[in-house]
Amino acid sequence: MPTPTDWLKYDRDHIWHPYAAVHSDAPLWAVVGAEGAEIELADGRRLIDGMASWWSVIHGYRHPVLDKALKAQVDRFAHVMFGGLTHEPAVRLAQRLLQIVPDSLHHAFFADSGSVAVEVALKMAIQCWDGRGQPQRKAFLTIRNGYHGDTFGAMSVCDPENGMHTLFQGFLPSQYFAPAPPLRNEPDDGSALEAFEQQLQRHGDEIAAVILEPIVQGAGGMRIYRPEYLREVAALCRRYDTLLILDEIATGFGRTGELFGCHHADVEPDIMCVGKALTGGYMTLAATLVSDEVATDICRSDAGALMHGPTFMANPLACSVALASIDLLLAQDWQARVQTMEQQISHGLAPCRDLPIVRDVRVIGSIGVVELTTNELPPGLQESLVAAGVWIRPFRNLVYIMPPYVIRDEQLPVLTGAIFAVLSNLQSTRGDNPP
Ligand SMILES: *Cc1c(COP(=O)(O)O)cnc(C)c1O
Repeated sequence: MPTPTDWLKYDRDHIWHPYAAVHSDAPLWAVVGAEGAEIELADGRRLIDGMASWWSVIHGYRHPVLDKALKAQVDRFAHVMFGGLTHEPAVRLAQRLLQIVPDSLHHAFFADSGSVAVEVALKMAIQCWDGRGQPQRKAFLTIRNGYHGDTFGAMSVCDPENGMHTLFQGFLPSQYFAPAPPLRNEPDDGSALEAFEQQLQRHGDEIAAVILEPIVQGAGGMRIYRPEYLREVAALCRRYDTLLILDEIATGFGRTGELFGCHHADVEPDIMCVGKALTGGYMTLAATLVSDEVATDICRSDAGALMHGPTFMANPLACSVALASIDLLLAQDWQARVQTMEQQISHGLAPCRDLPIVRDVRVIGSIGVVELTTNELPPGLQESLVAAGVWIRPFRNLVYIMPPYVIRDEQLPVLTGAIFAVLSNLQSTRGDNPP
């Protein structure tokens, strides 16, 4: 029997991790179990989870209701192709999703990851304009600091500076960018919106759609912006006759305090992407939802159909667990739960504001962000957080949490307390040792 030490060694020698080098000596921890809001390491330590495995595990690990849904579907069938065949899990999931998203959306495309859902959204927009007799509309307008995934179309609309554009220049399609809107707690002189409108004025006849993350920009900077900005953007899309794609992959399913980010601004997109928490973090599934009008025009395009169809489209296991996850969410007072978390996170992170290494602390729904004054992460931060008993994975100059909603009242302060303790410790070590 290989021991966790053996797997770790094999892993180091042969397996890629996200955004990692081979033969890297970056720390890596072996997981042997996970339950509720805890991750169990091979050495027996239990870490309180602040990441919900990148926004997805909203109901915690090993939830009995989700386990049961998955097992029940395994006993029926795990998968069938979706070309020419359909099944109850896909139909019921589509029904449920279309009930809870804005009324503008009427059709669902099930994709196998968030990035693919974004690719499909971009394709839909291009094919829609082809169907409308404007095939020259093939570019996208977005805002800086966005993140939409790691496939090439999605990458092209990620932030051009922190989003790998330089590396893949010459291959990536080039898109139009407007400045990121000011943060919610910064003054707004209206210039970001003006610059956005100028792009539409100048390039409107080439632009197929505007794409952005509503209310919270995630991996591109963990930025929270005002609902008014989103409302204005939606109005400008109408005025300049372009489509609006909202990427709700991170913000969906209650995370920001509303069921979807767009609900903060009462905005109705033409196309919307969901993913991440869709299956409660059990497996990979995403969906691209689209209005009837756009869907109809897509089918008027030369192709006559939407040109996408992944092998594992609408995987029945994933659809079953997604349906169970949404029902579980809606069956509880999730909004009160997320509000309580918001208060606890705000309270727990407030002391960080006084640390000189901290530039900003921002909280919305069950998301807490501490932005550091440094450009990069202080070395050893990840290890210190693990030593403090929490699983938090900072990136760039951001230490942030979005815990499972099932995190217990005595666990959440451990997360926020660990952030404060580790950051203050950095502070004092720095003070003790002049540069
Ligand atoms: C994570 C994320 C994606 C990409 O989803 P994957 O499942 O990782 O491909 C796209 N958009 C947003 C806003 C995300 O947070």
